[in-house]
Amino acid sequence: MYKIIKKETVAPQVVAIEVDAPYIARHHQAGNFVVLRINERGERIPLTIADSDAKKGTITLLFQKIGKTTEALGKLNAGKAIRDIAGPLGHATPIKKYGHCVLVGGGIGAATLFPILKALKTEKNKVTTILGAREQKLIVWEDRFKEYSDEVLVTTDDGSSGRKGLVTEALKEIIESSKVKIVIAVGPIRMMQAVSELTRPYGVKTIVSLNPVMVEGTGMCGACRVNIAGKTKFACVEGPEFDAHEVDFEELVNRLGFYREEEAEAMKAFKKKKCKGHCKK
Ligand code: NAD
Repeated sequence: MYKIIKKETVAPQVVAIEVDAPYIARHHQAGNFVVLRINERGERIPLTIADSDAKKGTITLLFQKIGKTTEALGKLNAGKAIRDIAGPLGHATPIKKYGHCVLVGGGIGAATLFPILKALKTEKNKVTTILGAREQKLIVWEDRFKEYSDEVLVTTDDGSSGRKGLVTEALKEIIESSKVKIVIAVGPIRMMQAVSELTRPYGVKTIVSLNPVMVEGTGMCGACRVNIAGKTKFACVEGPEFDAHEVDFEELVNRLGFYREEEAEAMKAFKKKKCKGHCKK
């Protein structure tokens, strides 16, 4: 069992929980994720580790209450426990001294970038972080990103904070005015695709963290397969980060929509408290 130490709402429908998980905290590297099950009959869901404290033995998971399991997870308060957490899983982000790095976070996807930012700063890189969201209240952890980044640029679709527009508009200006060595983008698939198309003609190395449907997270089930440079890869063990310029984003979008009806049904049953098994403690 993994006890929740702290719970915080960081944006509407977005929750951060700090969980007692000493082994995972000790071995966590930027880019890793976990797969958790709330209870014995629960669905397994992947979540990126948004922060960790090896001394305290805790990890922080940030998630959007978007489906049945994340809704149920969001109902657990400090003091309650999560049945299983497997991790750290996935390859770590390749961290080295690059020079000028740009991190691009879309909505809640930005949280994935926080450990990457800290690791890049340990290697004395210059890091510009772009945080984009539909509106000001959906920007996550701006203060934390400001603490470590050399510069933070906020963009909102409605102009309620920072610059009005998409993250790609801010990114284009930076690429055209500075020698950017690497761009790391995490957020909605269409955002990562747009970032990839933007950096391609400039020849700037670009990494994206993919979030396909994932079941067991250790390379056995194949649910998370993605098409990278025409080859099938398993995001759980060969990713989740890939060279953005090699990702087949259209296939990823199609595969992600595969269980939409079932997901909506499960959510409906959960809200009506009619779920017969998986939601029970
Ligand atoms: P959103 O749809 O509100 O978009 C956030 C920002 O991304 C926008 O404000 C805009 O600046 C940019 N953006 C979106 N579409 C764009 C496009 N076509 N071109 C250029 N820029 C674009 O984001 P949300 O509703 O907060 O959703 C967050 C997403 O992040 C979810 O889809 C979630 O699945 C994903 N996510 C991914 C990971 C991962 O590891 N890959 C982790 C957590 C969340």
